[in-house]
Formats: sequence, C-alpha cells, structure tokens
Amino acid sequence: MSYFSELGLAEPILRALEVKGYTDPSPIQRKAIPPLLEGRDLLGIAQTGTGKTAAFALPSLHRLISEPQPRQNAGCRMLVLSPTRELAAQIAENMRGYAKFLNLSVQCVFGGVPAGKQARALERGVDILVATPGRLLDLIDSRALTLRHVEIFVLDEADQMMDLGFIVPLKRVAAMLPKTRQSLFFSATMPQSIADLGRQFINDPVRVEVAPQSTTAERVEQFATMVNQAEKQALLTLSLRAGLADDAADNAEHGPIDRALVFTRTKHGADRVVRHLVAAGIPAAAIHGNKSQAQRTAALGGFRQGAIRVLIATDIAARGIDVSGVSHVYNYEIPNVAEQYVHRIGRTARAGATGVAISYVAPDEKSYIRDIERLTRVKLNLLALPEDFQNQAARLPAPARAAPEAQGDRGRRDGGRDGGRGQQPRREGERRDGGRGQAPRGDRAEAGAEGGQPKRRFRPRGPAGLGAHKGAVRRAS
Ligand code: AMP
Repeated sequence: MSYFSELGLAEPILRALEVKGYTDPSPIQRKAIPPLLEGRDLLGIAQTGTGKTAAFALPSLHRLISEPQPRQNAGCRMLVLSPTRELAAQIAENMRGYAKFLNLSVQCVFGGVPAGKQARALERGVDILVATPGRLLDLIDSRALTLRHVEIFVLDEADQMMDLGFIVPLKRVAAMLPKTRQSLFFSATMPQSIADLGRQFINDPVRVEVAPQSTTAERVEQFATMVNQAEKQALLTLSLRAGLADDAADNAEHGPIDRALVFTRTKHGADRVVRHLVAAGIPAAAIHGNKSQAQRTAALGGFRQGAIRVLIATDIAARGIDVSGVSHVYNYEIPNVAEQYVHRIGRTARAGATGVAISYVAPDEKSYIRDIERLTRVKLNLLALPEDFQNQAARLPAPARAAPEAQGDRGRRDGGRDGGRGQQPRREGERRDGGRGQAPRGDRAEAGAEGGQPKRRFRPRGPAGLGAHKGAVRRAS
C-alpha cells in the first residue's frame, strides 16, 4: 500500500497513481492534499517540478467523484487556468492520467487553433476544463461556455499570468465565478502584487510553500564560461558533441548528456543554433512561437522520446514544459531577469533529480550573472574555455563554427529594436490588446503524452555520470 492511500484518496485514483509509478507523495502533495480534501482554499507557493499538478488534481478528482453532479450544457465543474498552451496541454494530460479510472471528462482549450471544435466539445458540458485565459474569455463571450457551475477553480502560475499581462482577464474571470466554490491559487513567487491578486480568488486559504527557488537552484550544478558572443556557437557545438558521445562519462567536461535544453533569447537565434548544430551532425530541433503547432508537437515528442536529444527553446515556449531526463540546461544567452534563470534551470533537476546548468556569458552579460547569484545565493562555478578551443572550433564545419548573426542579436538587445525597453525582456508572442489579454502567440499546444517515460520517485538522482562535478555549486557568501 502506498503512502498515497493514507492521504484518503479514492481507490481508482490510487490505481491511476500506481500505473504512473508514483509511490510517495512529494512534499507539496503531502501538505496540500489533506486540507484540499476538506474543501479548504489553498495558496500554494511552488514551482513546476514540485509535483504541484498532482497536488491539486488528486484531491479535486476525489471531491468531484465524491459528490457526483450531472454535466451541465456549456458548463464545467472544475476550471484550471494556465498561462501557456504547453502548460495547459500538460496539465490536461496529467489530469487524464489521474482520472484514467474515473468517469470524468477532461477538456483543454487554448488559443492559436480554431475555436469551433473546442466550442462543440463544450456543448454538453465537461467535468474538468483546462484553459488559457484569452481563449476561455472568447468561449464565454461567444456563449460556448459558462462558469456558473464551477465548483473548483485553480489558478496556476499566477506570477507568469501577471508577467504576460493577464491581470484584466483574470479579474473578469473572478467576477464570473460562483461565490460558493473551492479556489486554489499557485505561484512560484509571492510578491505583494500577486498576493493582492490572490485575495480576489481565495478565501481563508491554507498556505503551502515548498522548495523556495534557491532550493531548486542548489540541486543544479551551475557553470559559467566567459565567452564572446561570436564564439558561443562553436563552444556549444563542441560541448554537446562531447556530452552526447559514447565516451562522455570519461571525457565530457560537464558529464554525459541525456537530454539538453538550450535557451536562446530570440526565435531567430533558436533557429540559427539548430541550423549550426545540424550542420555539425548533432540532431536538434527548436520550439518557439513562430513554429506551427505541428512542428512544436513533433519537436517536443521527439525530445520526450529521445529521438532528438537537443532542444533549443525560447523562454515562453519552454515555460512549464515537463520532460523527464533533461540532464543539461544551456543558457546560450543569459536572461536579463534573474528569476528567468531560475525558471530555466528548473527544467533540469525536476522531481528531485540533479542536473547541470551551463551559462555562456558574453562580456556584456556579466552584470546579469551578479543578479542571478544574488537571487539564488549560489555562486556559479567559472570554467575557462577549453585549452585548444580555437583549434577545435576551427575544425568544425563552417556553419557550425561561425555565428556572425549572433552579434547582430546582441546589438539589437543593447541598442537597437529593444533598446527603448531598457532591462525588460522582449516577450515572445506577447500581445496586449486593450487589456483583454489574448493568450500569447508563443504558447502553442503540444500533444505529447508522458508515455514511455521512466517512472520517477521524488528521490535525488545519484551522482552517476555527474560525479566529477559534484561540489561545483557553492553557496555565495
Ligand atoms: P509538476 O510540478 O506538476 O509539473 O510535476 C513534476 C513531475 O513530477 C511530473 O512529471 C509529474 O508527473 C511528476 N510527479 C508528480 N507527483 C509525483 C510523485 N508523487 N512521484 C513521482 N513523480 C511525480
């Protein structure tokens, strides 16, 4: 009998967890499930990767089946709001898995695809609806959906919602929800503005806080290499080549790579990196807002299944993406907002595993590193360029070596198109349309299920393969 059964969850839910291979609840699940089963509201301060989806999904499913209700036309009993399409699709997929042995329907709606089919799917009502705010409001405005029957409301990633300009849509949603309901409000950070937003949704909540950001950061071995922007491509190519090689355990500087996620600042930058890697014989794919949904689905699917072990992503596209076995995160460009760095490196070291984060720091990015170290209270381990870097780089095929365009990117960042925005990151796909807050274009759905992934428990991965770098992370004084 698993510890989950001691939490009082219904048998079909326990069976679904068994199928997933989960035996022990994660800390947030341990803390959140009992009060949620009692019907309390919840204020959850937790990042993705902590198991928070199951923390809200499992007790909600339990409550929905404990008090069965007929589906109402265009209605839903549980509404989960998520900032991006990827995350919405992922949550819905997880919900379907946990509800595998229950007679509950799960529907997911988001922008960027025709609304007609989604509206038709809602006609007879659904039990659980996962949505991005823009499309949710579209469906409500076209009378394809009503929130009158919502019993459980979940707002996920509230800080990201605010970042993406969804505050006005969220207030509209708040006004439409029934007064009597259970509300759950999750955010990775809880500054005053988010706490104020939370007050509009939750009533006398239980507060659950897990894994403050620095804790995740501490589990990741973090390296930084000072390198000119124009040399980053060659350095990345060489590092990936070494890490993906069969003898990587012995020779690769950053340990063998299971899967690597490479963050670039721009969509074009992501495509360029892919071109260079492919030219060097390293299969890679990109996900970002300019890709069609089919392309993104294919890229993510290939990455999940291991057919492609290197995925290049922009921040928005990668937000909340949960892929097990991401051993390495590369910051090809350093985010100029320190929290973004924490989100990025949180793509590795998920569910208790350890991981490696490698940052390529151009001279004009050094100040960002200082901010990051201050936030995470972790000092990055400085690594010099490999001794024979220039020679190795010179031997790469030309497209894999040269990255003159990257200089142009940097120029824009500092003085060009983005210059007027100061330190603000230019958000991919962001659109502010009089406060109605459409889902950002960047957030496309992915259909990839979790199938075929290794079963995981909340236990740190052993040092296998990464041993040479243990102790690389030091706390900054
Ligand atoms: P989340 O924070 O919801 O994105 O979850 C992070 C990952 O942990 C997802 O892949 C979940 O499927 C997985 N997970 C959630 N709960 C557990 C658990 N109790 N044991 C093992 N894995 C889990």
